[in-house]
Amino acid sequence: PHAGPVDSKNEAAMSELVPEPRQKPVVPMKPMGINTNLLGYIGIDTIIEQMRKKTMKTGFDFNIMVVGQSGLGKSTLVNTLFKSQVSRKSSGWNREEKIPKTVEIKAIGHVIEEGGVKMKLTVIDTPGFGDQINNENCWEPIEKYINEQYEKFLKEEVNIARKKRIPDTRVHCCLYFISPTGHSLRPLDLEFMKHLSKVVNIIPVIAKADTMTLEEKTEFKQRVRKELEVNGIEFYPQKEFDEDLEDKTENDKIRQESMPFAVVGSDKEYQVNGKRVLGRKTPWGIIE
Ligand code: GDP
Repeated sequence: PHAGPVDSKNEAAMSELVPEPRQKPVVPMKPMGINTNLLGYIGIDTIIEQMRKKTMKTGFDFNIMVVGQSGLGKSTLVNTLFKSQVSRKSSGWNREEKIPKTVEIKAIGHVIEEGGVKMKLTVIDTPGFGDQINNENCWEPIEKYINEQYEKFLKEEVNIARKKRIPDTRVHCCLYFISPTGHSLRPLDLEFMKHLSKVVNIIPVIAKADTMTLEEKTEFKQRVRKELEVNGIEFYPQKEFDEDLEDKTENDKIRQESMPFAVVGSDKEYQVNGKRVLGRKTPWGIIE
């Protein structure tokens, strides 16, 4: 059930890309300075370019979910990642709003354009998660939401009068924020990731990593990795999706050395070496 940002199974969209079947050419069709016909060169190697063009035009959906206790810097990090005010808190809700009594799920959409590529970004926030005295089963509404989006998409996909473009609300990626305690994962962290890693791509991140020393950070990363392994929790990039040896080598490195990512977010820009960068100003310097 792991969703990818571009749906390659959508035959309706595909059929428009592929030209009508034509008689086999007697000579290779590669144009070599010859006057080409209206359609130009046809070959499977042009499909990628056709798909790229189409995706550039229509844009693609990317839905990212953030989960973790309030105050861990979730809103700040998504704003940092996309270099724009895309989080729930910058879109009308204010920072001082009360923490809800139950987990709420709030999705906010934006259209971001970069280098001619349009991305329909949806940030799904989960205020209230892990904020109660009793956080038992507080992952349940999140799991329910994720599964509902799969169902919605599937329903549209198997529909006889299928839409030309099915709106994709599936959660492509879930950033799970771990508190930078330096101790171990909390039972709630394990519980959430155990259940949700089965339905969504989870990327565990250590929040506010600037609050740890370099040694603390390295040690904490190791500890978290160990705990995830002991508890049989798979995170992104999952082993089962390694396509070949090259993928495996690359992803093993991420899985064994980088994960969980230690992140620092900031909404503020500073001038560093003549460049404006997002950073955090501290008494001992600016963290880019
Ligand atoms: P959320 O409730 O998880 O969305 O957290 P916010 O993004 O609202 O951040 C809560 C507070 O933590 C704010 O005062 C932020 O400025 C601060 N903050 C956010 N990211 C970081 C970070 O990476 N490091 C540090 N030290 N503080 C951060």
